[in-house]
Amino acid sequence: MRTSKVYAVLARAIVDAPFRESLFRNGRQTLEEWDLSDGEQAYLQELPYGSFEKMVGHLISHWLVPVTVNDRYVVLPERVGDYDTDEMIPLRLASSFAFGNGAHPTTALCLAALDEMIRPGFRVLDLGTGSGILSIAAALNDAGLVLSLDIDATSAAAAEENIRLNSVEKIVEVRQGSLTEALAVCHASGGFDLALVNILTPVVLSLLDDGLCEVLRPAGVLVCSGIVSGEVPMMKQTLRNAGLARFETKEKDGWAAVISQRPPISDKKR
Ligand code: SAH
Repeated sequence: MRTSKVYAVLARAIVDAPFRESLFRNGRQTLEEWDLSDGEQAYLQELPYGSFEKMVGHLISHWLVPVTVNDRYVVLPERVGDYDTDEMIPLRLASSFAFGNGAHPTTALCLAALDEMIRPGFRVLDLGTGSGILSIAAALNDAGLVLSLDIDATSAAAAEENIRLNSVEKIVEVRQGSLTEALAVCHASGGFDLALVNILTPVVLSLLDDGLCEVLRPAGVLVCSGIVSGEVPMMKQTLRNAGLARFETKEKDGWAAVISQRPPISDKKR
């Protein structure tokens, strides 16, 4: 499957902001000049370059044209005026290199999980917000508040701009940061009902190790994405070991999102 072949390179693009920016600006030159690991090179050798370029192009396609994510969401370029979105929810994104315009399966999977799990008034954490797309969708689905965090300053700035573009700045607060900032908010004002973490398996595993589950209030839901389908059993086992339960997996084009829940207090007492 195409998506899994470019996994190693796109995986790096998700977590390594300077690499991503360079890849988007000039994919071919980046692959020649950057130090690619053996794994990254092996994946690329199997892939026709045209397919790779197309894939990178998808990640910035919202600069120019609307991106239909699924039957519920359409991402509109910043400058497109009135656009007939039919029954779909329009999300407007500025032309930045921050990740997340809905063209990539991991984002689409998170949006589908969000739709299924969110309830009005929910406190939502978007850890690794990128463009802020998930935070905007949460706010438009009546979240009570959304905390939007990214370790990358450029992404946090892009998310902030996009949050303003969609007029949800009263609900969404963007900060540069990660788990430490999320836990500080939990201690100050309570845990989250829903946490969305679309980063990548190694990063998600290390966040779990550092106490990611503690951001959830009892019965709170965690959506982990950026997982390759083959990694799902291992991810579920890790989540189980961390005390989470009630697993549901969504898959698309070789990628997966795993939904799990912190047990409600009544379950703990049993
Ligand atoms: N939420 C968006 C973007 C996902 S890309 C979507 O679903 O499309 C993952 C983002 O996580 C990137 O912007 C990257 O900068 C950020 N990130 C990577 N490691 C992180 C960490 N440890 N803590 C917080 N953010 C992180």
